[in-house]
Amino acid sequence: MTRLEGPGKVHVVGAGLAGLSAAVTLAGRGHTVALSEAAKQAGGRCRSYHDGVLDMVIDNGNHLVLSGNAAVIRYMRAIGAQDRLTGPGRAEFPFFDVELGRLWTLRPSEGVLPWWILDAARRVPGTGFRDYLALLPLLQRHPGRRLDEVVRCDGVLWRKFLRPLFVSALNTAPEEASADLAGAIVRETLAKGGRHMHPLVATPSLAAAFVDPALALLHRHGAEVRLGRSLREIKVEGMQARGLVFDDGEETLGTGDRVVLAVPPWIAQKLLPGLDAPDAFHAIVNAHFRAAPPAAAPAMVGVVGGTAEWVFAFHDRYSVTVSAADHLVDRDADELVDLLWRDVARVHGLSGPAPAGRIVKEKRATFAATPAQAARRPPAATSWRNLFLAGDWIDTGLPATIEGALRSGETAARLARP
Ligand SMILES: Cc1cc2nc3c(=O)[nH]c(=O)nc-3n(C[C@H](O)[C@H](O)[C@H](O)COP(=O)(O)OP(=O)(O)OC[C@H]3O[C@@H](n4cnc5c(N)ncnc54)[C@H](O)[C@@H]3O)c2cc1C
Repeated sequence: MTRLEGPGKVHVVGAGLAGLSAAVTLAGRGHTVALSEAAKQAGGRCRSYHDGVLDMVIDNGNHLVLSGNAAVIRYMRAIGAQDRLTGPGRAEFPFFDVELGRLWTLRPSEGVLPWWILDAARRVPGTGFRDYLALLPLLQRHPGRRLDEVVRCDGVLWRKFLRPLFVSALNTAPEEASADLAGAIVRETLAKGGRHMHPLVATPSLAAAFVDPALALLHRHGAEVRLGRSLREIKVEGMQARGLVFDDGEETLGTGDRVVLAVPPWIAQKLLPGLDAPDAFHAIVNAHFRAAPPAAAPAMVGVVGGTAEWVFAFHDRYSVTVSAADHLVDRDADELVDLLWRDVARVHGLSGPAPAGRIVKEKRATFAATPAQAARRPPAATSWRNLFLAGDWIDTGLPATIEGALRSGETAARLARP
């Protein structure tokens, strides 16, 4: 790959998905890129590792994306990993109702006309098509308002579908969440039809889908990638960043050098005192169980009325996600293994004791998607001409998701192009 001539290297700091997206975009266009990451591995909150207890590779947490996530699709194409997002090839969401002990499946029709809401076999049991009209207000923007000020947060449709959908996308109790962020999900996926709602899961792991192919691409383009390298200070002079002080030394920034700061908000605030950024967060708890599901097991089942929210079946393990899980993070891991296995067993009709399990608690999984926190999200451009921000907490208009992180990386890359 030939590098573009001209001054300027882009330092990307933070190799989570936002930093990887910025680095991949810039390197793919021939720019000189140096990517530094504090941890020993890339991926940030979207990572995989070998777990000693289960003796297998697990993800820190199950990540679901949808076919309508345009930045995800662009990124996967750019890194040549489209085939590592797999799913049923249609909009299909099985749910297990704990109270009724019954499995049912939501099947939105593919096109933009939502005729599926007229078909009782495709919609949520116990709902009528009029219930779905309650979502119409979310097609418009409602800056500063809570979801419960814009739509009714009760009834069967709410309890069995909308609440589980919003809590997992917003990682926040939906009743107190931002109507604008909830609306973004509806506008970008549900309202565009089932074609935009095919569920997609990283296969065989988050790292294999989102991270390793990006690092390989950066390597092919001659980018410098340095893991285990933490940024301690940004030296600024007037309207320019002039130096980056890493734990292994300082890099002076020359004319034309740019910085994309793609670190979590609490780190960005330390590096750039005075920066407005979200400062309230919610946890996500995941449980991974070493037990191979039968080949016919549904890949992903939403749980209504349990502790688990989603139960995933991978070829070698069951895995459970609970969002907005602040009520669970301080509970003992063994207790959580039993509690969450109970839901897996109910959903998949299993009996016997829980197999070996690993609980992964991400205490600051995402910022709280409330109107007050949304108002603290800064834009990508800063008051320093050569310094740009990326991350799922930047003002993307989306909740803290892979789509938001990747989009923020694209925006920072566009602004940072030398
Ligand atoms: C358990 C869990 C489940 C989730 N599920 C979903 C899901 O189903 N669907 C979905 O779309 N999203 C999901 N998300 C959200 C998604 O993971 C995030 O939105 C995305 O990974 C954020 O990427 P990021 O690059 O913005 O931030 P991060 O991943 O936090 O990246 C920031 C990087 O900066 C590095 N860093 C920090 N300080 C420094 C420093 N001083 N110098 C250098 N580097 C530094 C960090 O080590 C990190 O690698 C989930 C998140 C979690 C935690």
